[in-house]
Amino acid sequence: MAGPGRLRASSGPASTLGAVTGSREIDNILQRGADGGRITPEEALLLYTEAPFHALGEAADAVRRRRYPDNIVTYLIDRNINYTNVCVTACKFCAFYRAPKHGEGWTHPTEEILRRCGEAVELGATQVMLQGGHHPDYGVEYYEELFSSVKAAYPQLVIHSIGPSEILHMAKVSGVSLDEAIRRIKVAGLDSIAGAGAEMLPDRPRKAIAPLKESGQRWLEVMELAHRQGIESTATMMMGTGETNAERIEHLRMIRDVQDRTGGFRSFIPWTYQPENNHLKGRTQATTLEYLRLIAVARLFFETVPHLQASWLTTGKEAGQLALHMGVDDLGSIMLEENVISSAGARHRSNLQDLIWMIRSAGRIPAQRDTLYRHLAVHRTPDEDPRDDRVVSHFSSIALPGGGVGKSLPLVEAK
Ligand code: SF4
Repeated sequence: MAGPGRLRASSGPASTLGAVTGSREIDNILQRGADGGRITPEEALLLYTEAPFHALGEAADAVRRRRYPDNIVTYLIDRNINYTNVCVTACKFCAFYRAPKHGEGWTHPTEEILRRCGEAVELGATQVMLQGGHHPDYGVEYYEELFSSVKAAYPQLVIHSIGPSEILHMAKVSGVSLDEAIRRIKVAGLDSIAGAGAEMLPDRPRKAIAPLKESGQRWLEVMELAHRQGIESTATMMMGTGETNAERIEHLRMIRDVQDRTGGFRSFIPWTYQPENNHLKGRTQATTLEYLRLIAVARLFFETVPHLQASWLTTGKEAGQLALHMGVDDLGSIMLEENVISSAGARHRSNLQDLIWMIRSAGRIPAQRDTLYRHLAVHRTPDEDPRDDRVVSHFSSIALPGGGVGKSLPLVEAK
């Protein structure tokens, strides 16, 4: 009898399999997805809700093997630096923001951001993710100054930062078109747009958790404009705030439709909602199994998106490692600093050795990558593993007054 292991790992027409799952229909969809063929949203929902876990993982992993026959899984060293926690958008799931005039609101001067960039460079970071709230005064001019200052001081750092929400906000504050805002921040130094703020793209769940945020359609329109101006991006998804299975798949469909037109999404990064310190507190949370199933379905559904990243920060290292068997080819960043998701309760921390161990013990070859997924160093044997005890993810500096101004890494010892 044919088993899941016989799913084809090369492109070309699908071969006929015997019963893999007990359902001819599911077998056929898995086979088509594993072969790099297109599956419909309806088929993706069927896989998500009905396909046996092992068969789903095997089919998704067949995609990874076909795409990345070198067996390499990548990681990145970067730092998430927040310029302000002041925000007018008040998303219900967010534990990071403070309303304007709130006593715990802060903004960091450029010198503080440059100091943090300098620390990141010292620790081998190749990228910074500058992220912040929708400050009522921050228009395009603020971001031009921020990006050009970082580029002038650290031209080697790739600025993979902000998201469509910030771009919409800055254009509104400055009274300019989206096209102009994107053009100007690109000239100032923005290299790549982070996929943040996608949350859930379909209207119903998005309005329930972020009523003041732009619609999912608008989020995608900004991404499409940026892609057309030559700025690529990643795409994210936050699971577990009460959305249905069908809405999760609809989120994937909305991204794939844009990808069909632009090809500008390099990677898809789902993560799970963290329930502490926010208005949705503890109401719902995606289970690890739901997360892993979504990962596998995404690998099969996104035949046009090159990379799939696991979120060890929100799901933990064990789930992150399991995701490596569900089609994932990238573990993302060490995150020398992360405050936004950590504020909502993400306690998982990692370091260079841990991340490399997770990859190697899953039977893959670890490699450090840059923002464009180019391999900077491939660690083929343990002897080639880099050793730097300072490259550790750090606890939220939100706990520190003023957002930790002037505090050097480690802000708080990693657990
Ligand atoms: S998620 Fe972003 S836009 Fe929403 S409240 Fe938090 S900082 Fe503001």
